[in-house]
Amino acid sequence: MPKAKSSPGPADSLAARLARLGVHSQAALITHLPLRYEDETRITAIRDVRDGLPVQLEAEVVDSSIQLRPRRQLLVRVRDVSGAATLRFLNFYPSQQKQMQAGARLRIFGEARVSFGEVDLIHPRVKVVDADAPLPTAMTPVYPTTAGLAQSALRKLIERALDQENLDDTLPERLRARYRLAPFADSLRALHHPPPDTPLAVLEDRSHPAWQRMKFDELLAQQLSLRKAYAARRAQDAPALAQRSTLTDALLRCLPFRLTGAQQRAWQEIAHDLADAHPMQRLLQGDVGSGKTIVAALAMLRAAEHGAQAALMAPTEILAEQHCRKLTGWLAPLGIEVGWLSGSLKKSRKRALIERLQSGELLLAVGTHALIEDAVDFPNLALAVVDEQHRFGVRQRLALREKGSESRSGARRASPHQLMMSATPIPRTLAMSFYADLDVSVLDELPPGRTPVLTKLVAESRRDEVIARVREACATGRQAYWVCPLIEESETLQLKTALETHQRLQGELAGLAIGLVHGRLKSDDKAQVMEAFVAGRIDLLVATTVIEVGVDVPNASLMVIEHAERFGLSQLHQLRGRVGRGAAESACILLYAAPLGVAARARLKIVYENADGFEIARRDLELRGPGEFVGSRQSGVPLLRFADLTLDAAIVERAREAAEIMLRDHGDLAQTHLARWLGTKQDYLKV
Ligand code: ADP
Ligand code: MG
Repeated sequence: MPKAKSSPGPADSLAARLARLGVHSQAALITHLPLRYEDETRITAIRDVRDGLPVQLEAEVVDSSIQLRPRRQLLVRVRDVSGAATLRFLNFYPSQQKQMQAGARLRIFGEARVSFGEVDLIHPRVKVVDADAPLPTAMTPVYPTTAGLAQSALRKLIERALDQENLDDTLPERLRARYRLAPFADSLRALHHPPPDTPLAVLEDRSHPAWQRMKFDELLAQQLSLRKAYAARRAQDAPALAQRSTLTDALLRCLPFRLTGAQQRAWQEIAHDLADAHPMQRLLQGDVGSGKTIVAALAMLRAAEHGAQAALMAPTEILAEQHCRKLTGWLAPLGIEVGWLSGSLKKSRKRALIERLQSGELLLAVGTHALIEDAVDFPNLALAVVDEQHRFGVRQRLALREKGSESRSGARRASPHQLMMSATPIPRTLAMSFYADLDVSVLDELPPGRTPVLTKLVAESRRDEVIARVREACATGRQAYWVCPLIEESETLQLKTALETHQRLQGELAGLAIGLVHGRLKSDDKAQVMEAFVAGRIDLLVATTVIEVGVDVPNASLMVIEHAERFGLSQLHQLRGRVGRGAAESACILLYAAPLGVAARARLKIVYENADGFEIARRDLELRGPGEFVGSRQSGVPLLRFADLTLDAAIVERAREAAEIMLRDHGDLAQTHLARWLGTKQDYLKV
C-alpha cells in the first residue's frame, strides 16, 4: 500500500481514503475500474461543438474579466480558427485567473452549452499547453473516488499498480477458450486505457468483451469462495442419523393429510443428508403455505428417534409459538415433548427448561432468538432449523449451529446438520449466486384443496364497501385480518396507528369480536389474542406486520391491507399468503390512497396480477435490483461491483461451472483468483 506523503492523521491517511472506496491493497487498485471515460484524444473545432456534449477544445485566450452581476464569476473569452467560446468559473483562484491571461493557449475539457450560436462552458477543466503538445493516445478514465482523493492522484496510483502488480491470467487456457473470454491483462488494459476507436457506448453499458471478462471473474470469485466455504463445512463431522424410521413413519401415518410430491421429495433429500456423517447445509424454499413446517417436523423427529436434539428458531414470538403448538400436536401423541423457549418466559421456567436441555433429557426445542442466548446449551444437538431465515442476520443464523458444535466451555463437538427455511422465494440466478454455499430443496407445489386468493385493488374512498364485506364474511362464520398502515419510521407512531385503527373498526363493525396484535404487546397477551383467533373467538384480527410471516389460521378467508401502497412486494405477498389456506373462497383487498406514485402503482399491479411467489420475486428483483433484494449484511455475501444478476444470469451459470472445475483441477489458480478478487474480504465470506 503506497504511503501518503503528508498524513494529517490516521483517520484520513491515503490508506483510509482508499479503504472508503473498498480498496485495501495495491493489488485491489487494478480492479478499481472506471465509471466512465473522457475522450481527450481529439480536439473539436469550436464551430462543431454540439449542445450538451462533452468536448475538448484547443483555443487561445482573447481576454478575461471578472463579472459581478448577476453573480461574481470569472469570464474567459477564447478563440480558435473556427470560432469563439466563453469559459465561466463561479469559484476560482487568483492563480487560475493568472494562468488564463490573454494569449495563453489552453486545452479545455467540459460540457458545452450552445444557444443562439454562443458557446459556453461552465467550470471546464483547463490546461495551458504549447502549440504542438501531443494528445493522449487513449481515453482518459474517470474513476469512482472519494473526498480528499483527486482524480489525478488516483489515476497515478492505479497506473503504478498496473505496472507493478501481477496481471497473470488466473483462468486456465481451456476454460478461457470454453467460455470465449478475453485474456485478463488485455481486458484490464482495455478498460483502464481504451484506445481512441473504442465505442464508448459498449464500454459504458459494460457489454464490451473486457467487461464480460471482469464480470465473469468477479462472479467466479464469488462462486469459488462460497463453494470453498461449503466444502470446508462439509468436511466436518456430524452425527449420522440413519434412515431408520420408527417415529417418522408413525407421524406420516397419523397426519390428517398426505405429503405433496414436493414435500416428499424435499423430505427424502433431507433424510438422505441427515444420514451422512457430514453436516447438511440445506435451504428449504417454498412459497407461503407450501407446507415447510411438516418437513421440518419430520427432520426434527428424525433426530429425536436417534435420541439426539434438534432446535427450531423462528423470528417472531407469534410464529415460534404457533410452531410449538403445531409440533406438539404432531409429536406429543408419539411421546415426544417439544420445549418452548422465548425471551418472555418466566425466569424460573426458563431456567428449568435450559437445565433439561443441558442434561439432554429434553430433545426438541422451539423458540425465538432466546435459543441462541449464552445460557442455552445443547450438548447433543444434531439439527438446527432456522425458519424464515432471511429475517435473521448472518450471525444469528450461525449462532444456532454453533450452539451444537461448541460447548459452553468452548470444547468442540460434531457440527449439527443445518436446515434453513425461507418463504421469500428467490429467483434462480440470485439463489445460485447468493446460496452457492447451500444445497436447495424447493417446494414448488401447494397442498391440494387450496382455492386461489382473489386480489382486489380498492381506493380508500370505497372503504365502506370493504367494511360491509368484512361484516358479511364474519357473518358466515369466516374470519378476517385487517392489516394496519405501515409506518416504518417510527415505532411509536406505528403503535398509535394500530390502536386507532382498532378503535375505529370497533365502531364501524360493532357486534363483531375484534382483536388486536402488534409488536409492543406483551407476549402472553399476544399469545392469548392469537389463541382466541385460532379458536374462532375473534372474528376480525387487527394487526401490524407481526402477522406477516408464518401465521396459519385456515378459517380466515379475508385479508384487508390498509395503505397497501406503503408495503413492499414480498411483504404484500406474504401477507396475502395468510388467507387461502382453507377450502373457502378467499380474498385479499388492497386498500390504497389515491393518487398512487409510479413505484407504488407498479408494485400493486404486480401483486394484483401474480399469485406465484417466484414470479413476484423475479419482478421485485427487476424493480429493486439485487442489492436491496438480498442486502449484503443479510446474506453475508459482499455485493457485486460489476456483474448485474438481473442481466448476467448466463455468466452466473458459467462461473458456477468453472468454479467446480477449478476447485477440482486447478487449486492454485483458484487460490490466486480469490486473492486477487476478494483479498481481505475472504474472511468475511467464511461467516
Ligand atoms: P409454510 O410453507 O408457509 O410454512 P405451513 O407449513 O405453515 O406453510 O403449512 C400451511 C398449512 O398447510 C398448514 O396448515 C399445514 O398444516 C398445511 N399442510 C401442510 N402440508 C399439507 C399437505 N400435504 N396437505 C394438506 N395440508 C398441508
Ligand atoms: Mg412457515
